[in-house]
Amino acid sequence: MITVCSRCRDRIGFGELGECLICCGSFEKIDDLISDILEDLNDYEYENFDVGVRLYGSSKAIELFLKEKFGIEDTLKDDFKIDFARRFSSRTGKLRKVNGDVRITINLEDLSYEIDVSSVYIYGRYIKRVRGLSQTRWICGYCEGRGCEKCNYTGKKYLSVEDLIITPAIEIFKAENAFLHGAGREDVDARMLGNGRPFVLEIAKPRRRKVDLRHLEEAINQYAKNKVVVKFFDYCDAKSVEIIKNAKFKKRYRVVVRFDKEIDRAELEEVLKKLETVITQRTPIRVLHRRADKVRKRKVYSAKLILHRGKVAVIEILSDSGLYIKEIVSGDEGRTKPSLSELLRVNARVEKLDVIEVLGGLEEILNTHVFKSLRG
Ligand SMILES: [Zn+2]
Ligand SMILES: [Zn+2]
Repeated sequence: MITVCSRCRDRIGFGELGECLICCGSFEKIDDLISDILEDLNDYEYENFDVGVRLYGSSKAIELFLKEKFGIEDTLKDDFKIDFARRFSSRTGKLRKVNGDVRITINLEDLSYEIDVSSVYIYGRYIKRVRGLSQTRWICGYCEGRGCEKCNYTGKKYLSVEDLIITPAIEIFKAENAFLHGAGREDVDARMLGNGRPFVLEIAKPRRRKVDLRHLEEAINQYAKNKVVVKFFDYCDAKSVEIIKNAKFKKRYRVVVRFDKEIDRAELEEVLKKLETVITQRTPIRVLHRRADKVRKRKVYSAKLILHRGKVAVIEILSDSGLYIKEIVSGDEGRTKPSLSELLRVNARVEKLDVIEVLGGLEEILNTHVFKSLRG
């Protein structure tokens, strides 16, 4: 016969009351355990929690012993979670929720625990008004972020849209970190104008979870000093990061093109019509060092001449997501076909590039039932 506590005896149906070999007296220690956990969570805002249990060492061995010797599939873990959740709820008034705001994992052998704080997600759009900003953090390759002469002791190769957004956000949410997940990205030297690029801001390990989004917007826009302007729509969830990462929104671009020689306007307009087709594009030479060399096919829906003077033209292009725009102008040594350069038989290059519209976003699905239920 083994000695057990009353809770474990109720569960397995036998045993002599005494020092519990199954749970090592865990049930009796739950209230103290909760006190310790609440102290650690003191600084954190959360509306709900989840609890997980791990069995190691002797508690794992006992589980196996019960199974082999008595044929019992003990439900100690579930029983412990239920009792823990009940007492935690009554102490805090908060309910257990799958993948809740805080996730507590308890090791039943020694009652050590880990607390994971779920990220907070916010959906928004950003406008980038200046060139020379990367979208996400880009650390200096010489010093790997420590700061050196090359990077003017900033540790960064470029200042980023992400830097400008997360710095105030981390402060306001009293968070450990934050990340920008964009629906595609523009080049460092391209601006992102118009209705802005959809993105999800992830706040990692936040101590605050409910921040007024207008207040957050103001703080960021003030900090970013008009280099970047953000607009937030609503809180969302981890799923929306996947959605935004896989979104294929069409984009409208405005490009300033310079030709090697003067171009006839009528010819240019005719050639632009030929560019409204499926473009076959091999990964551009300029990004080959960080992207796989493959062929993609993307459609150009429209290519309109906005302005033309001698060797310079301003063109608006509407295309599928994932088309490299600079290369449909230059041809990229024949890797992009057709191209403006190829069709005109003259060298052409993009002098300036702006994204002026991203056609689509999460605004529509933010209000759907599916999405709301995901957010709980
Ligand atoms: Zn027990
Ligand atoms: Zn450096």
